[in-house]
Amino acid sequence: MKIRVLGSSGSQLPGLNLTSFLLDRTVLIDTGSAASMLDFDEQKRIELVLLSHIHIDHSLGLMLMADNLVGQTRKPIKILSIPEVLDGLRGHLFNNQVWPDFTSIPSAKSAVFSLQALTEGRTARAGKYAVTAARVSHSVPATGFVIGDGRSSLLYTGDTRATDRIWKLARTVRDLRGVIIETSFPNHMQGMADLSGHLTPRSLQAEIVKSGLRVPFYVYHLKALHLSRVQKEIAALKNPQIRFATEGATYSL
Ligand SMILES: [Zn+2]
Ligand SMILES: [Zn+2]
Repeated sequence: MKIRVLGSSGSQLPGLNLTSFLLDRTVLIDTGSAASMLDFDEQKRIELVLLSHIHIDHSLGLMLMADNLVGQTRKPIKILSIPEVLDGLRGHLFNNQVWPDFTSIPSAKSAVFSLQALTEGRTARAGKYAVTAARVSHSVPATGFVIGDGRSSLLYTGDTRATDRIWKLARTVRDLRGVIIETSFPNHMQGMADLSGHLTPRSLQAEIVKSGLRVPFYVYHLKALHLSRVQKEIAALKNPQIRFATEGATYSL
């Protein structure tokens, strides 16, 4: 699998793009900067979206891509997530107030998006991919995913504070090649991180140790105001498993 980092920032400023990863040209994992980083033809190729939670920094691209793609898709793009996230998407974003309901216009069959609920821990097929959701611990309902293509698998945490279930799932995945994990705030803001459902370098290290996994951990979601401090604190961990998910980079897993 090839994973291209469209955006790996926890904030949007010139030169910093919100969380979104493109898998093999057809799958988006979160969509923060998808509409600004993918051109129209690339957006048309998307078949599947894994949405971790509805916070704007992860869902913005979904909203804006819908506006580009209405009337342009042969079949709806599937949005996969746990039921609470899909309910939130319908109720708070595609609610015909904030934005039109792009799951039903002009009709459900010819809409830009269709929604597919995932049962936590149960693997669902989506095209050539196997997708499994595991809830994580954030300030709103949120899930991480394991996605595999039969040859290798990747784990994406989404936004989370310390969590357990996803590591339990990860240990069962034999072909796991990498983890994409958030880290948002510096160590001295541990209280704020815990409150808002995020990790610091210290809690990142604890999660890696707790996971027992030996694969690379690609870090994303650093907050712009604390970027250099968080980078320094992560470097000070001297953990060879940790890499930064660099915007614009493509990783083969
Ligand atoms: Zn969030
Ligand atoms: Zn976020």
